[in-house]
Amino acid sequence: MKCIAVVMAMASEASPILTQLGAQAIPAIPLMPFKFFEADRNGCRVIVSVNGRDKRHGVDSIGTEAAALNTYVVARQYNPDLIITAGTAGGWMHRGAEIGDVYVSDQKFVHHDRRIAIPGFEEYGIGSYPAVPASGLAQALNLKLGTVTTSNSLDENDDDRRLIAKSGGVVKEMEAAAVAYVGEMLAIPVMALKAITDLVDHHTATADQFNANLLMASQRLAEKLLQVIDFCAPRSVADLG
Ligand code: SAH
Repeated sequence: MKCIAVVMAMASEASPILTQLGAQAIPAIPLMPFKFFEADRNGCRVIVSVNGRDKRHGVDSIGTEAAALNTYVVARQYNPDLIITAGTAGGWMHRGAEIGDVYVSDQKFVHHDRRIAIPGFEEYGIGSYPAVPASGLAQALNLKLGTVTTSNSLDENDDDRRLIAKSGGVVKEMEAAAVAYVGEMLAIPVMALKAITDLVDHHTATADQFNANLLMASQRLAEKLLQVIDFCAPRSVADLG
C-alpha cells in the first residue's frame, strides 16, 4: 500500500511510535487541535494524526467526537489505503487479557453506550462497523484478536456490561468505533491496534491502573505498531486476513 494513516488520541500514547518512526511534524488544519506527523517506511507513507489538546480544558482530546473529526480530516487530506486506530484500552481477566497485551480488531467495531430502544435505531446505535480482516497479520505477529467496543466513559456501568456481554466485546476504549464509522463512510478499511493498560474486572480502580501502566503499554504499542506497519506496507489490504 502507498499510505497508512494512524489515528491516535493521547500525546503520551503517540510519543514512542513517533520516535521510533523518526516522524516529522507537518502542518495540520488551522483552528483544529489535531497534530500531523509524517514518516516513510519502505516506500509507504505513514501519517500519524494525534487528536491534540483541547484548548479550553487543557487535556488530550480523547473520545469519539475528536476521533471522528481527526479521521475525517486526515482521510480527506491523505487518502490512505488503510486507517489504523491505535492506542490503549481496557481488557477483561475473564477473557484472558493481561496488562501490556496488544490486540488487533476482529470482525466489527461496536458502541456500548448508545442505547436507543427503537426498532432500527438500536442497531444504528451499536454501529457494528466492519473491521478489516486481519487474522493473518495477527497470527504472523503473535497478536491477540478481539472485537473492539467503544464508549465515551472510562468506567463500566451495569448497562455497559449488559451491552458488552451481548456484542462479545473484548477490548474497551473510547475512539475506535468513531474512526470506523468514518472509515466505512469513506470506504477506507479500518484496523485497531490497542495495548491493554487496565483490566476492567480487576478490583483496582481503572484510572489507577491506567496511570500506572500508560508508559509501558504505549511502548508495547509502538513496538507492535511498527511491526504492523512493516507487515502492511508491502501488501494490499486484501492480504492481511
Ligand atoms: N486518566 C487519563 C485519561 C485517559 S482516558 C489522563 O489523565 O490522561 C482513557 C484513554 O485510554 C482513552 O483514549 C481510551 O481510548 C483509552 N482507554 C484505556 N483504558 C480504557 C478503559 N478501560 N475504558 C475506556 N477507555 C480506555
